[in-house]
Amino acid sequence: MAGSSAKWKRAVVKLSGEALMGSQTHGLDEATLARIARDLAQSAAMGVEIAVVVGGGNFFRGIQGADKGIDRARADSIGMLATVMNALAVEHAIERAGQPARALSAVPMPYVCQPYSRQAALNHLGKGRVIVLAGGTGNPFFTTDTGAALRAAELSANVLLKATQVDGVYSADPKKDPGAVRYDTLTQDEAIAKNLAVMDTAAFALARENQIPIVVFRLAGEEAIANALAGKGLSTLVTPEGRGKGAGSP
Ligand code: UDP
Repeated sequence: MAGSSAKWKRAVVKLSGEALMGSQTHGLDEATLARIARDLAQSAAMGVEIAVVVGGGNFFRGIQGADKGIDRARADSIGMLATVMNALAVEHAIERAGQPARALSAVPMPYVCQPYSRQAALNHLGKGRVIVLAGGTGNPFFTTDTGAALRAAELSANVLLKATQVDGVYSADPKKDPGAVRYDTLTQDEAIAKNLAVMDTAAFALARENQIPIVVFRLAGEEAIANALAGKGLSTLVTPEGRGKGAGSP
């Protein structure tokens, strides 16, 4: 058990679409969904208010469509719809794990879930529901990483958790360079100076401007999210400078 020692009061957790497909090549893997949902339910039980931002890459990325001749804005709309499918699946899995959850979509689809608004999101969080945010920013030419940073800023989250396949930020790609070193902590300025890609550029800029710390951690295994929230296990904490002025102070 990760225990009830969460470091943060309100967290945005970014899950890529690929994180939901397990060992499959696309789509959703039921066992993986169930594991992540248990983890999120446990994290909420630790008293953390949780907003999950889901990607869509397990179904469709706009850039793939653009490569095949679909205009980019339309291709990105398809990508945003992919995130809605994931959000509905994650919402269902969290509820199955015993925790109330609500999907909210930045692309309004009132027949399938509530449209996203800051007010609705804060209302659900205040009632102890995990919110699952679909549609990224609601605009083409963005990613769900940027959507996650945007929601973290507007919901005054104390931290942005970026789930990845590796256990933090490395000095080089650990799959290619055996000498790559993992950082326990980094400042956002150090990440820029060392040219380390923590999130995509727009997402990182938003987090930096709004002084939101980013925790990069490995999603594989039980309780990965709960442990990251409790500061247990391996991860990299990317801190803003001058903490306390913006949204990012715990
Ligand atoms: N997308 C978009 N605007 C956003 C977020 C996402 O148009 O604000 C589209 C874009 O086409 C993207 C796709 O949705 O490729 C899926 O999101 P993303 O690539 O971020 O998913 P992930 O890689 O995290 O699974």
